[in-house]
Amino acid sequence: MLALLVASFFAASGWAAEPATNRWIDVRVAGPFVCRSEFPLHGYEKLVTQLARLQTDLARLAGVPAPKERIELLLFRDEQSYRRYLQIHEPHLPYRRALFVKDQGPGRVLVHRSPDFEVDVRHECTHALLHATLPMVPLWLDEGLAEYFELPPEKRAYDNPHLKSLRWNARFNLLPKLEKLEQEDDFTKLIEKDYRDSWAWVHFMIHGPVEARRELAGFLADVHASTPPGRLSQRLAARVPNLRSQFAQHLKTWKEPPQIRQAHKPKGIWPFGNR
Ligand SMILES: [Zn+2]
Repeated sequence: MLALLVASFFAASGWAAEPATNRWIDVRVAGPFVCRSEFPLHGYEKLVTQLARLQTDLARLAGVPAPKERIELLLFRDEQSYRRYLQIHEPHLPYRRALFVKDQGPGRVLVHRSPDFEVDVRHECTHALLHATLPMVPLWLDEGLAEYFELPPEKRAYDNPHLKSLRWNARFNLLPKLEKLEQEDDFTKLIEKDYRDSWAWVHFMIHGPVEARRELAGFLADVHASTPPGRLSQRLAARVPNLRSQFAQHLKTWKEPPQIRQAHKPKGIWPFGNR
């Protein structure tokens, strides 16, 4: 039985056809993630530390419980090597710059080095953490949380590039509609605006009125308990007074206080990371 489990695990991981000489030359454990890399991870210590923190950040900010299973993070030296691996091990999947795959076994995240490498790692690892714990996640919320957590912790609140156009649109009362996002159920049909709008609602729930964050946590707790959670749009409308105007106000006025910007961004150290 044990051998069978091990065999199926390796098959599911795409390792069955790997040659005896291992392609993964560096292996690190970061929280629930086992990172296997085709290149040395020296120089990526900050990213590895962020991965270890990602789960506790998700728990603290959105109430997502810790996963009970390991998550494989496979890191490729370049796009060519990544494509070659996909052709052999995941030929059924549509090509994406980075992937999160979950079937019977533990979730797997596949990312190759590129200018967006660290963003892709954090984005896909957020999906992996959500799906390691929750039986389902609405598509918009899945992507909104991944967009939020794809930036390093010190940039999430104030420095997401989505904020600029959302703030501009909010001045003309053009607000992302949560009810419309909730109707999306096909990720191949999502466009850039959907990711941005999903991020806006996640940002509002995390940094806006405390009732909104509590409703997000309550919604995810119901999902975790397999209690039908209903629609988050309706739950928020019932919990947060004047939801639409509070959402508009949040987008229009959200800005980092100057004293925080000064204190947290000493010259010569910003930005963090390896890119
Ligand atoms: Zn995503």
